[in-house]
Amino acid sequence: MIVGFIPPPPMAETPAHDQTEAHRYVVHYPSHLPREEDPHYKAFEAYHRATEKTAKCWVGNRIGFDSCAGGIELHHAFVEFSLANGIDLKAIQIDFPDLQDNDAVQKWVETDQNFRWLCVFHHRGHAGAHTASHADWTAGLYVKALIS
Ligand SMILES: [Zn+2]
Ligand SMILES: [Zn+2]
Repeated sequence: MIVGFIPPPPMAETPAHDQTEAHRYVVHYPSHLPREEDPHYKAFEAYHRATEKTAKCWVGNRIGFDSCAGGIELHHAFVEFSLANGIDLKAIQIDFPDLQDNDAVQKWVETDQNFRWLCVFHHRGHAGAHTASHADWTAGLYVKALIS
């Protein structure tokens, strides 16, 4: 025992609680063609057609499909089509070193490495990848009923 040391009181457990979250910011989209005119859109459609019948929600597949709602939709996990022209080659090569040039990057956007099937709730709903913060959305993969 250290003379004069007074141990701190034990920390009280924080009870379960709810907290409203709101986010507001500006996204700076680079110029892009209309979706249907994107030369790689056919790859998206082909993947969609080939996998939709057996597709399962990426989130529900982890935390349980009872958390899912709505139909199933194909999501771009890292970068969506409308941002593809803004991808920095050196930055993306840190995680995807096989991408050798901007043409390869443009093709990669419409490949399975960048796709996740999500139910509507986990895609565009309150617990959606386009709605919840990254921290909350990823925690929702493993924490049941995190977001309502
Ligand atoms: Zn889901
Ligand atoms: Zn999406």
